[in-house]
Parts: sequence; C-alpha cells; structure tokens
Amino acid sequence: MTNTSDTCQVKTTCPYCGVGCGVNAEVSDNQLIAVSGDRDHPANQGRLCVKGSALHETTGLEGRLLEPRIDGASVSWEQAIDHVAQGFRKTIEAHGPDSVALYLSGQILTEDYYVANKLMKGFIGSANVDTNSRLCMSSAVAAHKRAFGADLVPGCYEDLELAELLILTGSNTAWAHPVIYQRIVAAKKARPEMKIVVIDPRQTATCDIADLHLPLKPGSDGYLFTGLLSYLADNDALDSTFIDNHTEGFDSALLAAKQLTGSVAESARRCGLPETGLGLLYDWFSRTEKVVTLFSQGINQSSSGVDKGNAIINCHLATGKIGKPGSAPFSITGQPNAMGGREVGGLANQLAAHMDFSDPANIELVETFWQAPNMVHQEGLKAVDMFQAVHDGRIKAIWIMGTNPVASLPDADLVREALQRCELVVVSDCIEKTDTTACANVLLPATGWAEKDGTVTNSERVISRQRGFLKPAGKSRHDWQIICSVARAMGFDAGFEFTSPGQIFTEHAALSGYRNNGRRYFDISALESLTEEQYNQLQPVRWPAAKQANLNPKRLFQSGQFNTPSGRARMVAVTPTAPVNRTSEQFPLVLNTGRIRDQWHTMTRTGKASRLLNHIDQPFVEISPEDAAQKQIADNDLVEVSNALGRCVVRANVTDRQPAGSLFMPIHWSAQFTSQARVDSLIAPICDPIAGQPESKYCPVTIRTLNSLWRGILISDKELADLPCEYWCKVPLTKGFRYELAGLQQPDSWQQWLASITTISPDRIELNSTSAYRLASFNGNQPELLFFAASRAHPKEAHLKKAHLKEALPNSAWLSKQFAQPISTAAQRMALLAGKPVDNSTDCGAIICSCFEVGEKQIQQAISQGAASTDELAAKLKCGSNCGSCLPEIRALLN
Ligand code: SF4
Repeated sequence: MTNTSDTCQVKTTCPYCGVGCGVNAEVSDNQLIAVSGDRDHPANQGRLCVKGSALHETTGLEGRLLEPRIDGASVSWEQAIDHVAQGFRKTIEAHGPDSVALYLSGQILTEDYYVANKLMKGFIGSANVDTNSRLCMSSAVAAHKRAFGADLVPGCYEDLELAELLILTGSNTAWAHPVIYQRIVAAKKARPEMKIVVIDPRQTATCDIADLHLPLKPGSDGYLFTGLLSYLADNDALDSTFIDNHTEGFDSALLAAKQLTGSVAESARRCGLPETGLGLLYDWFSRTEKVVTLFSQGINQSSSGVDKGNAIINCHLATGKIGKPGSAPFSITGQPNAMGGREVGGLANQLAAHMDFSDPANIELVETFWQAPNMVHQEGLKAVDMFQAVHDGRIKAIWIMGTNPVASLPDADLVREALQRCELVVVSDCIEKTDTTACANVLLPATGWAEKDGTVTNSERVISRQRGFLKPAGKSRHDWQIICSVARAMGFDAGFEFTSPGQIFTEHAALSGYRNNGRRYFDISALESLTEEQYNQLQPVRWPAAKQANLNPKRLFQSGQFNTPSGRARMVAVTPTAPVNRTSEQFPLVLNTGRIRDQWHTMTRTGKASRLLNHIDQPFVEISPEDAAQKQIADNDLVEVSNALGRCVVRANVTDRQPAGSLFMPIHWSAQFTSQARVDSLIAPICDPIAGQPESKYCPVTIRTLNSLWRGILISDKELADLPCEYWCKVPLTKGFRYELAGLQQPDSWQQWLASITTISPDRIELNSTSAYRLASFNGNQPELLFFAASRAHPKEAHLKKAHLKEALPNSAWLSKQFAQPISTAAQRMALLAGKPVDNSTDCGAIICSCFEVGEKQIQQAISQGAASTDELAAKLKCGSNCGSCLPEIRALLN
C-alpha cells in the first residue's frame, strides 16, 4: 500500500476471470476512485480489460445485502449464526451428515474455501461440498490427474507468447480472457511468423488474429485430437525418446486413436471439416517445435470432456511438447479462484491439498493434521447431483456461498424448485437480490471484492493477495469469519479459532507440505511460517513453493518427471464420444452457450456499471442467415428458444459468424435483468461421467419468432418491477434504468398501462397515434419518465412488419444520455419526445469501445475519412487504446 496525502494505492487482484490480473486500487475516503493495471503483476504487466477497468463503478452500496435475515426479517448476527448452526446440527442428528451440503464458488478466496472444506470433510463428516467451478474446469482437473498424477497446469502465460504454433480450442479468448488475448496479439505483432489456429464452431472475435480457423462440428473436438495422434504416428512426428523414457500407455492410446480416427479423411469426416484445413493443422503441429494448445470451456463442458482433455494432452506427450518454453497443453480456468478452490480440495471428489480419497493414507494424513473428529472417507455429491439430491429430499439443508445456481446450473428451473422445497436454504452473498437469494430462508451478508482479504490463484499457478481496502459494507462479514462462527456454534471450537485470513493461509500452506517429501507437487510449505506482516506484503508467488525447492515453479515436468507413482506421464486410451444430447425433429438446432465481452457471470456486479452494458445491453440468440430464413426470423426479432426443459425469450441476432444448424446464447442474463432468458433453464443435467461437468455447449432446442405487436423503450429514475409484457430487459444507467420492451398484445390504453407500473408526474408531454405513443414527464428540469411505444396492432398498421417497429423507435443510447441531462427549454423537451437530437451529430451509434464510449457510426465515419488501421482510429477517436477488448470489432469494421 502506498499513501499520498489523501489517497492511497492498494495492490490487489481483479475478481472476474481466471487470468488473475493485478490491479492498483486508488482509494480515498473509503471510496474506490480509480483502478489501473499493476505493471508488476506477472499475469497482466499493467493491462486490464474493460471489465477490470470498470471495477470502481461496481463497488457502490446499491443492491448490497447489508444485514442478516431469517425468513425476510432482519436479525442479529448471533441469531443468524445460531439459526444456521442449529439447523445444520439438527438435520445431521436426524438424517446423518450427508443430509447437509455446502455449495461454494470460484469467486470466494482460498482462505474461505479452506475453512469450508475443513468444516465439511473433517468436522461435519460429509464430502457434500462442491463449487460452481465444477461447471467450468472439472473436466480439465480430471484429465490432468489421469495424465500427470495430479491436477497440474504445466506451463505459464509466457509460453503462449513463446509458442511458434498456438492452438486455441474451445476458447473465445478475446472475450472470455481478454488480457491473455492482448498478450497473444502483442506476441503475434512482434513475431508475425507465429501461427495461430482457432478451433471453434463459431467465428468468434478470437478468429480475428487466426491464421487458420477450423469451424468443426459442435462436440467433435475429441476426434480432432485423436486424429492428430494418429497423424503424428503415421508421419514420423513422434518423440520416441520422450515416449520411452517419460510416458506409459502409448501403445493403447495410439491404438484407440487409430480405431476411432485412423486417417485425416476419417477425422475430417467426424469433425465436419475440409480435409485440407485439418491436414494443415496436423502438418503444422508435426513440424513445429514449440506448440501450446490452450483449451477452455468448449472442451470441458461436455459429456466427454475428460477424454477430450486427455486427447489433447496425449498429442503433447507423444511429441515431447511439454515442460519446455513455448510448449504445453494449457487449460485456462474461467474464474478468479477456481485454482485456489482446487488447491484446498473444495470439490466433492477431492480431499484437501491436492489429495483425493483413492488412498486411505491421504485420509489419515488429513485427519491427523486437522485433528478431525468426524473425518469423511468417501467422495460427496458433485454439483448437478447435489441439487438433484436437494430436489428429492436427500439433502435437507444447504448453504450456498457467493454463487447463483438458480441462474447458472443446468436444468435451472429444477434447481429453483429444489431450493423452494428444501427445509433450510442459507445463502451468503454480497448482493441482496439474485435468483438464488429469492429462495433463501437465511441470508447472510458477505463482504464484497473491495472489502475481502485473502489470496487467489490464477490459471498459471500464481498465488496473489486480494486485499481489502474498503470497510465492510453494513453488517457484512468475511466468508471465512461466517464459516468459522457457524463451526464454533456447532461445537467445533478447536480447528476454527482463526482471527485472520493469514492464519488460515499458513495452515493451508503447512498442510500442503505435511508428510509431503516431494510426493505431491502442490507444496507451498515455504509460505507456512509467514508472519501477518509478511502475509500482508506477499508478492505474487507461483507454486510449487516447497521449503526444499525441488521443482522449478515456472514450468512443471522440465525433467520429464511426473507426479504419478512411476514418475511417468500416462497416455490415456481415450474414446471421446459424440454429445449425449441429440438433436431431433422436434429440437433440431444445437444451442451453444458462453460469455460475452463485457459481462461476468450473472451480472450481479458487472450489471451495476452502465458502461459495461453499452456494448451489448440485451440477451440475444445468434442464428445463421440460413436458419433465420428457414424460420422466417429477421434480425432483432423477438424469438422464443425452447426445449422440453424450458423456454427463453430473446432478440435474434442474425449473423454469418454462426454456422447453420446451431445457435449461441450468452449465460449472463438472470431473472433480475430480463423476463425470461436464463439460458441454463434449457440445459439438460447431463454430465461427463468422471468429472461431473455438464454438457453446456450442446443443447438441442427449437426456435420460433414471436409475433410482437409492439415494442417500447421506457426510461425511469426508479427501478420498476412486474412489467406486464412478454419481454422486458432492464439496463441500469448512470441515472435511472432503461427497459427495452415488447409485447404480443397491445394494452387498450397506454396511459393506464403506464399507470399500473409507476406514478407519472402531471408535468408531462405526450404524443398519441394509431402506431405510436410517446410520453415524457418531468420533475422540475429533470426528466422523470420517458416512454416510447411503436405499434402495429391497429388494423390500419397491420401492413407494418415487425422490423419496422424497431426503426420507429428512437436510439436508446441517445435517449439514455439525455435522461441524465437537465432539460430547460421547450425545444429540448420536444427533442426528447421526438427522440432525436436537433441535429444528428450526437448520435454515435452502437457503442463499440466501452472505455471511451466510441460508437459504430463514429468509427465508420472516421474510416470513410481515411483512417485505415486500428492505430489510426485510436489516434483519432481513442477507441481501442485502453483495454483493447474492442479491437476485434474495430478490425471487423475496418475489414
Ligand atoms: S482479463 Fe479482465 S476480467 Fe480477466 S482478470 Fe484481467 S482485468 Fe479481470
């Protein structure tokens, strides 16, 4: 921490994605006033993406949960802790330890995870403790364990820059891990000969820098890599010395690959790719020394995700492309502390400190170290099974921390029903209203990012301090404090007497080294004796960090030694299978799901920064022009995407970036932001049999257009609820809220419709016709309510197409800006009602660069005036010159 007279700078970490960027937080008077990238942090070296750059816009108190509540009533912390502890204790007494569960999050800190895991597995005596990280990387964990003997990520981010061939598979890196993408872009600029291959059914923003894009058939990724192994064997591209000296299982792995994909032609057929394109990748891989294969959710979220991970790893082992600079299979995690959770063992099939239940000696070791009175001896229920058990009554009390499973787990409607049926649902969160807090009996206010203190581990095994720099909001407490209080109230005083996160961290570090002697690569025992001061000053440190430095932490496996009993890596005979979900006549399209550039998870935090909604403000479904034409769907139509499990209502985005036969929807919108777009209500709870990770990338659905008779925009200085129309979407603004609306039936009277949802000032101006209704009301010189509806309900307007409705409405972005301005003249009032500026100069179009609020029209105009590169556009408009997240879209406009 550095101080000036009235501000201080605190080094902390970004709470969003698994890149784990270091952040300088500038704090004044208990307010976060600015953020910047930490130049000293190895992950980002000063960069931040647009989400990280907007962190200071998300720390306000609005929407925070500030006090404990039981059944909606405010209570003291003592009452709340006692209620939870007694509830859990009585349930356990009556039904046994497996009748309770904890569901954690990759958003909580390692210290929180550690005490939660310890409480469940050592003291309550159940392994029913799982995490939302199950949904993003558990397949990679299982693949690592099978191949390397432990959950070990071999390389570091620097390898992505050193690679001569970088394969990005199942990863829209540009949007999901933007700072990694920026590092790759910079490396490619410095070494244009570096080859980049993107393997993805969609043409994502990441393809922007690709030398080769392979738009394979959804779900066929495993075949691509078994085919690669066959090709390497057939083309004399194996590293026989490495295979002989450092691996086992090569023959059976190759046999399985050959049986499945014995030729390039067969691999191309299974992947739905042209033989030439696939052959080119195979040729590049076989002839390039330094290769990194970066894989993410597109590989992991599959009913065959573990096999896919091992198919990738097999290719690297067979060619010795591992443990060397610029060579590694590299799984990148989704969340900021998914890795920390893995390290403490916060998954139901892990024990602690990278040990699992397969060896009774592990259980005895942890039991002894913890002095555990009720040590569990077998795995617990993984996330999807856990909520199924809640639904069928086997689990009767559940405590959910820092996550929103009603919006994010597959079969999300069943999850909601499960929680509504459950006898005791405890939710710890920093946010008051989420789809999950709505189902809670007990709400416990947890501290948020700016207040929490502890450590996180990013995707390259770097442990960083997340430092609290604001006072806890309201009565909120840290998760580790809440867990320890409940543990003590349950009678487990010894073991939970921690008074600081540093004490928890050093115990975690000591367990990692306990009776280790080099057996487990996860060893951070060099940190077990940190004083409070040293813990507070801790700089980013990569593990392993053993007391006896026996491994180079930067790159694992450099000596060809692996963490298996034989010391050899295991090549696994994999048989990746096609997705379990199958399309049918009724549900003929494959829905893929994923992240967008400027939002995080269920928007509980990024949804507070209006700047982050400039880029994409509403849920959507991407559909190919062919499918759209066949279904008579026009761009921006309101459509219903559905299957036997659920239904979503979203806007259609017709784009040739989406292949025919498949759709894409973002994961972010919850019931707090829109009428019906919880995409996980469509996802079947079908999982990888080993990892328990759901098949979220392959969901059979159908789509149809909804015959909207009217569309509207409503901007209010108050948050509104229960809007009576088929579609609504809330967009928080710097002042007030904008609602994008559409309806299948037009109200008889717009005045009455508006009056049913809000009060309208008598100081108003209106316009009413058969096809339009507009209203602007004022409080003094401040706009209070704006409403615009375009309708084709009247028989006279029946000739209008749905698309005309959008054209008949004003520009939402312009209106939103005007809403925050004082309006003093009659002309300004009339311009507001007209929905457009007196001249068109202030209409910048859809925002492309969120950092500098530069719109598409401005960029197009600059291009038409001669700007021919991203650098020239940046010099003229500044667009793309801060976080760089928008550069792929700017390049698309230039192209
Ligand atoms: S890439 Fe962006 S979201 Fe991810 S850690 Fe860095 S700043 Fe945060």
